[in-house]
Amino acid sequence: MQEFIDQLPQLAKDKHNENKKFFARLKKKPPKNLDHIMQELHEEEFEQTDCLHCANCCKTTGPLFTDKDVERIAKYFKMKPVKFEEEYLRMDEDGDLVLQQTPCIFLGADNYCSIYEVRPKACREFPHTDRKKFQQISNLTLKNVAICPAAYNIVEKMKVTIK
Ligand code: SF4
Ligand code: SF4
Repeated sequence: MQEFIDQLPQLAKDKHNENKKFFARLKKKPPKNLDHIMQELHEEEFEQTDCLHCANCCKTTGPLFTDKDVERIAKYFKMKPVKFEEEYLRMDEDGDLVLQQTPCIFLGADNYCSIYEVRPKACREFPHTDRKKFQQISNLTLKNVAICPAAYNIVEKMKVTIK
């Protein structure tokens, strides 16, 4: 798995133009059953890919924290939300709340998330490959294939499945 993860940025780069063209076509004319296709591809992929052997998303990028995320996680730590923000978060150039550092401070050496039950919504949903109207997040997916081996595999399978 680690070898594949290490190769992902280059693999994604090599596939970038092909993927871009594919997503442009998908956006123009998504198949009627796209939600169903994505659900199946997502489930099939995550039956084989164990995130605990990877954690590359937690190691290399961080989630955006919504106000609800901050409230929920601060409560878990019995902290005031403002204190939690001061301690762990910063505002990025787009005005979004993000982690002060990567790898994520809540990631353990065993790849377990220490705040799993209350983790941010963005972590729960990453890599968004079971999302409805998947064609709407093609730009995000073009980036995610360089980070997430599962997203990379799913996009490769999409290109075979959706002609
Ligand atoms: S979501 Fe993707 S990048 Fe994150 S741990 Fe799972 S396979 Fe790895
Ligand atoms: S909060 Fe948990 S799931 Fe989210 S990036 Fe950190 S370790 Fe990963």
